Amino acid sequence: MHILIAEDEAKTIAYLVKGLTENGFTVDTASDGRMALRLAQAHVYDAVVLDVMLPVQDGWSVVQALRAAGSRTPVLFLTARDRVEDRVRGLELGGDDYLVKPFAFSELLARLRSLLRRGSQLQPEMLRVADLVIDPVRHRAERDGRVLHLTPKEFALLALLAQSPGRALTRVAIAERVWGIDFDTQTNVVDVVIRRLRAKVDAPFKSPLIHTVRSMGYVLEKR
Ligand code: CA
Repeated sequence: MHILIAEDEAKTIAYLVKGLTENGFTVDTASDGRMALRLAQAHVYDAVVLDVMLPVQDGWSVVQALRAAGSRTPVLFLTARDRVEDRVRGLELGGDDYLVKPFAFSELLARLRSLLRRGSQLQPEMLRVADLVIDPVRHRAERDGRVLHLTPKEFALLALLAQSPGRALTRVAIAERVWGIDFDTQTNVVDVVIRRLRAKVDAPFKSPLIHTVRSMGYVLEKR
């Protein structure tokens, strides 16, 4: 079992790495949110233990970006805050469980094992729009049986649109969910990735699936 721990307190990392390694897990660590997201998108983990308060990018935006990219990896939040709304927020954004610090290692282990059991029972859902098929777990996209070679951001954006076919998303919403941060005036980065996606997803095929919604954003659908 391969676990990613995202935590910025050296003592907590050392404690978790030691405990999990002794219990037979393989562990990778990230000390800030951006690093956590990069690792989680580059590797397949069985679960992520995610501190909420992380430097650069908080745990909430990490889980949001992961889910936007279609990842269903179980996420256990670590939170120092014992406020109900913070716990609810983590779960609403796609976290699976949480632990309030300080916690006993035995409790973390029990919750992690329970998440892993649940995770293995989940049937990964394929996203389908017309002849486009997206496998969020294997990070694979095909159209008309042909594999599309997409960068991680291209894949994340396409998976996001495919999650709600026919529903237009604004550039700001796309930027926030794919990049995990508030791009505000720099949403033209969305247009750049859309252009590259169109070249790969639409240009080689008969009918386009990515459509521009004027002065708003983009929608994925068969017309
Ligand atoms: Ca922290």
